Amino acid sequence: MADFHEFYPLRAHNTFGFDSHARLAAHIRSESDLVSALSDPRAAGLPVVVLGGGSNVVLTGDLDASVLLMEIPGYEVGHDAANWLVTVGAGENWHATVGRTIADGMPGLENLALIPGTVGAAPIQNIGAYGVELRERFHSLRALDRQTGQFVTLDLDTCAFGYRDSLFKRDGRDRYIITAVTLRLPKVWQPVLNYGELARELESIPAPDAAQIRAAVIAIRSRKLPDPAQIGNAGSFFKNPVVEAARRDALSAQYPALVSYPQPDGRYKLAAGWLIDQCGFKGLDDGPVGVYGKQALVLVHHGGGTGAALLGLANRIADTVEARFGVRIEPEPVIL
Ligand SMILES: Cc1cc2nc3c(=O)[nH]c(=O)nc-3n(C[C@H](O)[C@H](O)[C@H](O)COP(=O)(O)OP(=O)(O)OC[C@H]3O[C@@H](n4cnc5c(N)ncnc54)[C@H](O)[C@@H]3O)c2cc1C
Repeated sequence: MADFHEFYPLRAHNTFGFDSHARLAAHIRSESDLVSALSDPRAAGLPVVVLGGGSNVVLTGDLDASVLLMEIPGYEVGHDAANWLVTVGAGENWHATVGRTIADGMPGLENLALIPGTVGAAPIQNIGAYGVELRERFHSLRALDRQTGQFVTLDLDTCAFGYRDSLFKRDGRDRYIITAVTLRLPKVWQPVLNYGELARELESIPAPDAAQIRAAVIAIRSRKLPDPAQIGNAGSFFKNPVVEAARRDALSAQYPALVSYPQPDGRYKLAAGWLIDQCGFKGLDDGPVGVYGKQALVLVHHGGGTGAALLGLANRIADTVEARFGVRIEPEPVIL
């Protein structure tokens, strides 16, 4: 039998800090905890919601669901000819894992330092920052396939990673519960310093090592992003929209300061933060929710507000951006 709690408070389990209660919730500390929670008759017929650190979700009310709080530990190092293969439990903290692998002499995750949340959630949106995405450091993962009831190993190709996207946001949505992730860290390490802001931060260090890059990423992020322990937020609220070259050219003719980045497929990624800023939303306060003053891409909750109010503000922003630029920006967090 699973160790279920009834009417379980989730405020401490979402970085926006919204009030919400789960009909049932269980702490999942092993694969057998997971199996018993899924087969427990008390949860029969209830939808299942998987939560890691809650740093990429918007809770819009109470969850009439069985909420699984992923806390599976684990850290095991193996290797093949070219790589360290580090298998980490889904419930381990991502940022701590970045620090631990570097301290253990296996660099490669330094650009992804200080991203909140768990290791098990990292593949869901293929987390990325400062020129590196998880997929570049990913070997495989282990998950429970809820369709067959079997544990499976999924490799890089099967996970179909894209920009803030993967199998788990598409066909595999609600199908897989990830219990461990195997990271692939090349034994011959190459720093990734092609992100302008990071390169500038490290200007005074001729050949920075992974620990120095990690420290620089932490310094930049701490200046730019609100700490969820102080102000409720989920990091970037909108994904950067990707548009055809013709659309980008037309927009940049009209708005010469438009910020855009060429993509390998010939399209362009537009900076959603710039689009929102141009519409005058940066720093807006809408009662208990608002837009962060230092970064227009981040929506914030000051306390006492609701996920529904935040979504109302998000829609207003997306509608205004679309009316002005003809481009729809989509939310990054999962709305529950
Ligand atoms: C201040 C701040 C900065 C951020 N910066 C970045 C950034 O730079 N880059 C970036 O990519 N993201 C960023 N994020 C978003 C977030 O940190 C990541 O998406 C992170 O991976 C979410 O982890 P989590 O454990 O909190 O997931 P949760 O929010 O708990 O869950 C997110 C989704 O994953 C699912 N899920 C979670 N665990 C599992 C599992 N074990 N198996 C199956 N499904 C699961 C949930 O059901 C949900 O759909 C930021 C967030 C904050 C608050």
